[in-house]
Amino acid sequence: MSVIDDIKARLDIVDVVSPYVALQKSGRGFKANCPFHNEKTPSFVVNPERQSWRCFGACAEGGGAFDFVMKAENMDFGQALHLLAQRTGVQLEKRGDPEKSDILHSVNRAAANFYQETLKTEEGRQARNYIDSRKLNDSSIEKFILGYSPSSGDGLKSHLLLHDFKIEQAIEAGLVRQDEESGRTYDFFRGRLMFPIFDRRGNVVGFGGRALDDSNPKYINTSATSIFDKRNTLYALNFAIDKIRDQRTAVVVEGYMDAIAAHEHGYTNVVASMGTALTEQQVAQLRTLAD
Ligand SMILES: [Zn+2]
Repeated sequence: MSVIDDIKARLDIVDVVSPYVALQKSGRGFKANCPFHNEKTPSFVVNPERQSWRCFGACAEGGGAFDFVMKAENMDFGQALHLLAQRTGVQLEKRGDPEKSDILHSVNRAAANFYQETLKTEEGRQARNYIDSRKLNDSSIEKFILGYSPSSGDGLKSHLLLHDFKIEQAIEAGLVRQDEESGRTYDFFRGRLMFPIFDRRGNVVGFGGRALDDSNPKYINTSATSIFDKRNTLYALNFAIDKIRDQRTAVVVEGYMDAIAAHEHGYTNVVASMGTALTEQQVAQLRTLAD
């Protein structure tokens, strides 16, 4: 049983929701005024049999205990996991567990290789056209392991399972998502140009995915995992670190493509800030390398 299943088995949705909402008995379940939108007639329903909740009103959404806590406490999945683990007395694996990070590195590496191969197929044509329009050469594409995530929604999942990874590992790496209500699993990145994100030692720790159509948002990233935190990651640092140390100078650009193009043209002390404003953690990392 996975830690998540273990926690779910010890939780009752009614106990989870009750502190936030005045539940009234209704048939085999409960109803209440929705805590997430303003209303006078209850359209928020809790179903103890299915251990789920749903707002049939303005929110038109629902889910399980994790979804509820994330929404009610404005937490991401990791934070909700910690809260509910604490509440149920389930022991989470320690952060930075070396064996676990090895597994997450290898599942991410396998995903990068899969995306890379897919880029070379007919499916990857649109992504290749985009890369061509940005005038990157083949050695950059190889070096940065650019790839394409198929739009089917289960291409990566099937590939990873075929290569003896467990679905839990793919979920934990942020590559596969699970719909809490239906239990259905699907690839997180679909139909996107893929940029593997490396740590400073060159392990693949996450991904950025660029939409090739009008999808919003244009860029998405792996959400925070035990080996990836966007705020203290600098893209291309693994390729730039020696030069930055040498020159005691780093150049920070905004996008993946900008960083790759800079490296291709010999400016190898260039890193990218992951699309956000430069964070304190990123600056702190650079301070240890440059003046
Ligand atoms: Zn609602």
